[in-house]
Order: sequence, then structure tokens, then C-alpha cells
Amino acid sequence: MRLFLKFSLCLPLAVLLASCTVSQPPATGARYGHDVYGHRPGPKGFRTVIIDAGHGGKDSGAVSPITRQKEKDLALDTAKRTARALGSDFKVMLMRRDDSFIDLDERVIRADRSGAAILISLHYNSGPAKCCGPETYFWRVDSHGLATRLQQAMARVCPSGDSSRGLVRRRVRLTRNPQIPCVLLECGYLSNPAESRLVSDANYRQKLATAIAAAIRTQSAAGDAGTGPLPRPINSPPSRPTDAKE
Ligand SMILES: [Zn+2]
Repeated sequence: MRLFLKFSLCLPLAVLLASCTVSQPPATGARYGHDVYGHRPGPKGFRTVIIDAGHGGKDSGAVSPITRQKEKDLALDTAKRTARALGSDFKVMLMRRDDSFIDLDERVIRADRSGAAILISLHYNSGPAKCCGPETYFWRVDSHGLATRLQQAMARVCPSGDSSRGLVRRRVRLTRNPQIPCVLLECGYLSNPAESRLVSDANYRQKLATAIAAAIRTQSAAGDAGTGPLPRPINSPPSRPTDAKE
């Protein structure tokens, strides 16, 4: 009896010690399913992705003053390339496959219903002509590691790449409101003449898509390992259209 008691007391301690040596918890549906705030480590071991090509239909997004290309078309092209680059290892869903308009709140609803583990929203940027380079927006704690990997991957492709400058924690509808890890990528500035010409080249967009897919694959394999400390949790309300520029 004494022996049994001793054993039974030690067992939980042994389990606790064993669990302390595991730096990344195993991926489970419960841990990486829907979560309103996302105050948790980033996903690992996932195989489902939804890719959102920004804008569409009546909403062209940014238009390059150099090439006249529209953000909505470039985003859709990059989304399809990224889906192909992820290959058969992943189940990839596209938020839109054609030039159709989908409201941002509707995109959030569709992402949550899709069964995907993560959401990646693809955009091209616009601003002062001198601004260039990719930027990555995230809000949730569980999206930080993925965002870090995506920013680093795009910066390695971009000639002017500086991976630290473009990682931004910003609460907008597609970074706050989905209940899954979600990241919004600005793949480059259409308002910058050199970058706009670069983005107009399908080979360059293919390099970006390949890099984005590789970052997603690495996140699935390694979780947040090596992406730095998690940001502080913030219990913010859902983002509304009036909150910020999206
Ligand atoms: Zn956009």
C-alpha cells in the first residue's frame, strides 16, 4: 500500500517533468481549432490552409501608376501560385478563384467555416513612391510565428528586403476577427516604380509564391520554434470597418 501510494504520487510528477521538456505542444484539434482571441502558441502539424486573394470585382485595390496593373488581379495570381506551390501535402482552399467581390466580414465567416487551420490574405501595397518592400500584418498571438516566417521569406526574395521593418502588429478585420491564425501579406508596393515593374514579372510573383509556401510548410513542421518570443496577449474587440485602413 505504501509502495503503491508512493508510485501514484510520483507518477503525476514524472508526467509533469516529461511535459516540461517538450518545447512545442503536440498539434491537436482542440489546441489549434477555433479560438476567439488566439492567445496561444502558433499552429504546428496542420495540413489545411485557406488563401485569400485581396479585393476583387468592383474593388480593384491599388492600381500601379507604372504598369496599370490592379492589386486584385496580382493578388489572385499570387494566391493561385501559392496554392500550387503548397502542392498535394496540403489541402488548400481559395477564398476566391475569379474576379468576384467578397465583403471583408464575409471573408472572415468563410475562413472560419472552411475547416482550414490558417488563413493567409494576399495583397499588394500602395503609398509614397519611395516606399518599397514586403510587409506582414498580424494581430493574434498564435499568428506571430507564422507572420515572422512569412515576412522573412518574402524579404529574402525582395531585392530591397529588410525582414525586420515590415512585420507589423495591426488589428484589422482579417488579422483580428477570424478565429484561426491569420496573417495579411502586402507583397510589395505597386506605387514604387522599381517594385511595380518587378511585381509585373510572373517569374518574380512565382518566387514570392514559392517563398510564401515554404514559410507555411516550415511553420507546419516546426511550429513557432526559432521565431522569437510571443507578443503580449491583448483582449481587443473585433475590428470594425471604421477602425483602420484595410
Ligand atoms: Zn489590399
